[in-house]
Amino acid sequence: SLCCGVMGRLLTRWRTLPVLATCSRHLSGYVPCRLHHRTLGRGKHLVLSRMFQPQNLREDQVLSLEGRSGDLTCKSQRLMLQVGLIHPASPGCYHLLPYTVRALEKLVRVIDQEMQAIGGQKVNMPSLSPADLWRATNRWDLMGKELLRLRDRHGKEYCLGPTHEEAITALVASQKTLSYKQLPFLLYQVTRKFRDEPRPRFGLLRGREFYMKDMYTFDSSTEAAQQTYSLVCGAYCSLFSRLGLPFVKVQADVGSIGGTMSHEFQLPVDVGEDRLAVCLSCSFSANMETLDLSQTHCPVCQGPLTETKGIEVGHTFYLGTKYSSIFNAQFTNIYGKPSLAEMGCYGLGVTRILAAAIEVLSTEDCIRWPGLLAPYQVCLIPPKRGSKEEAATELMGSLHDHIAEALPQLHGEVLLDDRTHLTIGNRLKDANKLGYPFVIIAGKRALEDPSHLEVWCQNTGEVVFLTKEGVVELLSTVQVA
Ligand SMILES: [Zn+2]
Repeated sequence: SLCCGVMGRLLTRWRTLPVLATCSRHLSGYVPCRLHHRTLGRGKHLVLSRMFQPQNLREDQVLSLEGRSGDLTCKSQRLMLQVGLIHPASPGCYHLLPYTVRALEKLVRVIDQEMQAIGGQKVNMPSLSPADLWRATNRWDLMGKELLRLRDRHGKEYCLGPTHEEAITALVASQKTLSYKQLPFLLYQVTRKFRDEPRPRFGLLRGREFYMKDMYTFDSSTEAAQQTYSLVCGAYCSLFSRLGLPFVKVQADVGSIGGTMSHEFQLPVDVGEDRLAVCLSCSFSANMETLDLSQTHCPVCQGPLTETKGIEVGHTFYLGTKYSSIFNAQFTNIYGKPSLAEMGCYGLGVTRILAAAIEVLSTEDCIRWPGLLAPYQVCLIPPKRGSKEEAATELMGSLHDHIAEALPQLHGEVLLDDRTHLTIGNRLKDANKLGYPFVIIAGKRALEDPSHLEVWCQNTGEVVFLTKEGVVELLSTVQVA
């Protein structure tokens, strides 16, 4: 295994011999593994001291990281920088650090489930997109300065794709034997996208390089395409509901993508840059861009409209044959004749959803994640070294093993904060900031008979004392993406 092999060999370089000699597995005749001792001698535990450390930066330190003066008005940006979830690389571009990558991979898994549940097939298209494709739709000019353009050594022009309508339509057009029997096609990808923002801001909410899920659909008729449109919107509703994020689906402008019908999925939050008009009497809601400025009443029920701000996290477009007619994306219809595919395109801002979720769910000082996406579900805090409760260290080790055996679904989700030179209080403060859904402490009551562990359920705000069995029962309900 990685643990006993490469890592073990690497670790011996600075591991001292007396430490090895006390490794219980070593003494009892198991293959010696240097990592095991490090983890309180109890198997392959994840230990915090070996990982990318929480940062705990002050606000002024965060500002200098970003090269700014004044306040960071955006909570998710400030918190993500402060605890070391992201690190600025250049304006609008961030390094995604280990906790963020774990959360992002979970989000992608949930998105994959939702897209595949409606028949989506995953593809992966190059970020380098040839200018010729964009000239064909005239978007090489229309997109203006937002398009990040470059030239290769032969002088050929490209852009770094902000979206892939051209590329996917040309791809489908190249499939010469496409039959109506194969449709609908729902093709999607989750890739990095690029947009040369004039003012990148709010961290991952408005960057120049970001992850997006973009789906493109191909149908044999307008009726079928409209059904597909509702199907994808349904999948988006399901996604945001599973993440526990409050959202509104609003009527939207088609913008530079074009087409005839469009909706946005918005998370209502103050820092949002979109202005939404919401009717409190019926379900009508719209991006203000789509309304007449003088419109103060709902076009459906005439009730008064209220204004709210939102972060756009998803966008859907009914495209018709706008792109298929340009690239000649055809299929053989039921009469054996060539016919143009009816298209739709559907985006989700993947890194933006992550930051927006943190924006919506967190307190001023502490990050809170959608349960499904938390980088780690459980943080274990054993007693401080040399404290009165130190005898409970053993109990924490056995709890860790007990969880590993009883709840294999939590494999890789339980982290041990082995920085035992710190007080429990200090480590709890860090754990609170990072927002592990469950923080389990071996404190005073761990020495009682039977021993009780202190369990902080971060997403409900409850603190309960449970036995080892009680902890396992509680954690058995945890869902992991
Ligand atoms: Zn209304």
